[in-house]
Amino acid sequence: MSESCEEQRTNFRLSVCKREPVVKLLQAVTGLEPLSWSEDHRLSVCTSSNVSVLEQVCDIHGSSPELTLYRTCVPAPLKTCYLRIGPPKEVQLCRAKFARSSDPAVSQKFMLDRVFNPEGKGLPPLQGYKYACWSPVGCDANGRCLLAALTLDNRLTVNANVDRLQWKQLADLTEMYGERLAQSNYTATENATYSQLEDFPEFQRRHSMQTPVWMEWSSICTTQEIMENNTCRDVGTVLLAVLFENGDVAIWQFQLPINNHTSIISCNTIVSGVESPSVLAWWEYEHSNRKMSGLIVGSSLGPVKIIPVNLKAVKGYFTLRQPVILWQEADRLPVNSIKCIALYHPYQKCSCSLVVAARGCYVFWCLLLISKAGLNVHNSHVTGLHSLPIISLTVDRQNGTIYSCSVDGKVQQLIPIFTNLALKFEHQLINMSEMFGSVKAHGIAVSPFGAYLACITSEGMKNGIHPVNKNFQVNFVSLKTFEEAAAQLLESSSQNLFRQMDLTDIVRWKILKDKVIPQFLIDVLDKKVDGGPLYFWRFRLFLLRIWFQSFKKLTYEAMQKQPYHESKVSRKEDTAVEASIFEEEKDQDEDRHDDEHGSGKTLEDSAESESSPTDESFLEIQKKIEAVEAHLTKEHMKHVLGEVYLHTGITEYTSIPTRGVCAYLMANRDDDDRTAQVLIGHVEKKMNKQMFPEYCTLCKEVLPFTDCKKAVCPNGHLWRRCSLTYQACQTLEYRRCLLHDSIARHSVPEDLDWIMRLLKAPCILCDSPVF
Ligand SMILES: [Zn+2]
Ligand SMILES: [Zn+2]
Repeated sequence: MSESCEEQRTNFRLSVCKREPVVKLLQAVTGLEPLSWSEDHRLSVCTSSNVSVLEQVCDIHGSSPELTLYRTCVPAPLKTCYLRIGPPKEVQLCRAKFARSSDPAVSQKFMLDRVFNPEGKGLPPLQGYKYACWSPVGCDANGRCLLAALTLDNRLTVNANVDRLQWKQLADLTEMYGERLAQSNYTATENATYSQLEDFPEFQRRHSMQTPVWMEWSSICTTQEIMENNTCRDVGTVLLAVLFENGDVAIWQFQLPINNHTSIISCNTIVSGVESPSVLAWWEYEHSNRKMSGLIVGSSLGPVKIIPVNLKAVKGYFTLRQPVILWQEADRLPVNSIKCIALYHPYQKCSCSLVVAARGCYVFWCLLLISKAGLNVHNSHVTGLHSLPIISLTVDRQNGTIYSCSVDGKVQQLIPIFTNLALKFEHQLINMSEMFGSVKAHGIAVSPFGAYLACITSEGMKNGIHPVNKNFQVNFVSLKTFEEAAAQLLESSSQNLFRQMDLTDIVRWKILKDKVIPQFLIDVLDKKVDGGPLYFWRFRLFLLRIWFQSFKKLTYEAMQKQPYHESKVSRKEDTAVEASIFEEEKDQDEDRHDDEHGSGKTLEDSAESESSPTDESFLEIQKKIEAVEAHLTKEHMKHVLGEVYLHTGITEYTSIPTRGVCAYLMANRDDDDRTAQVLIGHVEKKMNKQMFPEYCTLCKEVLPFTDCKKAVCPNGHLWRRCSLTYQACQTLEYRRCLLHDSIARHSVPEDLDWIMRLLKAPCILCDSPVF
């Protein structure tokens, strides 16, 4: 792997490197943009039998340098989807009539159309997905992303994964839209004339007005709602725009979190007037603190335009007065994959938006900015990048870098460079075939912070012959060096390790390989943690944990050598084979061991093996890890006490073991921590000598607060403590953070608002969601 890395580096300024593993797909890939990477690090792949989901996790408990990917899938609906176009009996009669029609223009068109005949007698089965797209992070009950999936037979559903394993369908939008149309007699406007279903054009029209072509989520819009007692409450909503074959766009508005179809607030239909629409994207633009939105609609005939989205119901929502044409000519270069990127214009000193789209072999771009003179539009095409049509386009939203991919596996990286007038692009080639052999590409997606590029490939031509069977796989390529990833993490504005997991994974990969944390990173962090945000403490904890894992690997490698020597007695040819089998078995053993005991036991594991020079360093790292964890815990305790102080009256009982937390903090405080002392003084004054102890539910004895992770009653009943509120979790069910380094209790209806808010927080050690 490292050899190919060096080779690549000499060829490109962009340092691309193949990243293991290669994920084999069991089914053929379907749809136009089959690959999509969510903001919360899940990769969806549209295949002929389901939407396969690969969740990337930056593993802090394992020492395998490979990308850690958990696989789940969104199962396809069981029944074929027939669009609702009228009363079932009437539809049946009409279908029979058109099938037997003596006019071949009717009968043939009817028989061959896949929208009319999703089950199609004699036609190949219509199985698989047209498209799937991720909502922004923060939309489901756990604050994660939702997946909208559109099947080839036109069923559009919204799906969530709430328990890590199973995907659940939350709403069937195709069915709901069909119902709405039936109620309005299939008319868009009130005074439209109503035709009979038995007219073939009417039959076609009713299908086309509800056949989804594409859909896209907007970003989250937060508005304030005034409650009965005159207090304000933040309400988050998100919009899903669905483009139909006839050019209509349905805008579904959801209230967050989206739990099921009752989370839908409204559905509006907008007429775009675009002929042969192929794709849409949200246009979102921020101008002097005003957020503007619209919808960019592309046509397979060539034109692209932005249409206004008038939503009176959504406060703080602004749109255009009239449509803006980005490309007018119907030059028969189909538009696909439109992306809209927010950028800052260094010369005009204002924000602007860049719209890019694939049109044949070209990348179409359009720069929009609002100045005093009004809306400025510059457009052009980037030519000469690809010799075959572009099949996929993906964007790194952090810096506006665009990646385009043609079917021959050639990926171009495009960096927008501002000029006085508008824009130009610098481009560099990433040739997938150089890394993966002769391949055909089917789709690309870049990870949220631009660390990795995923690419679906199948075998390409060999000796001028196409392969007989196609095997599809997802390949990964790293786009950033360790130094680039580390610098980005240190300068991060989001200050959330979970959100930047693709970057932290590059760091993890490097530390596992070199078994050392680079000195420059230690030095910078030492400076940043001093009085800085806790994010840097969590970053330090992360580095130490990975370093610890790299040592574990070292001891483990030493262990492997022993049996190799023993097997010398056996015949020479067998040795290599046995050794490799042994390696595999050990791998599994180690995994099992991890499952049974968690990562805490690894220290003893290594102690059992032959003592090595690393044992001491092992203990030393362990101590450092504990010290950082203790610091983060104490800081969070102060935060919790602050909330208690803020939200309680004198001698009021809160379910939080306040007295215990105060005592624990005092006993374990750092000498120079004045704030803790002052805070505890204030809180204790409020409690006015009352104790408010916690009681064991099994024996009613008082639960002492001696440990921040667990509570043991005098009769030996042991409960784990919630890491967000320090309450003892006296139920069998609790939540765990994504990386399994902390637990938290479920919130209950009796919880006060401020306690609920505490419970909604991410893990205090790793920033990942707790669910
Ligand atoms: Zn007890
Ligand atoms: Zn965690």
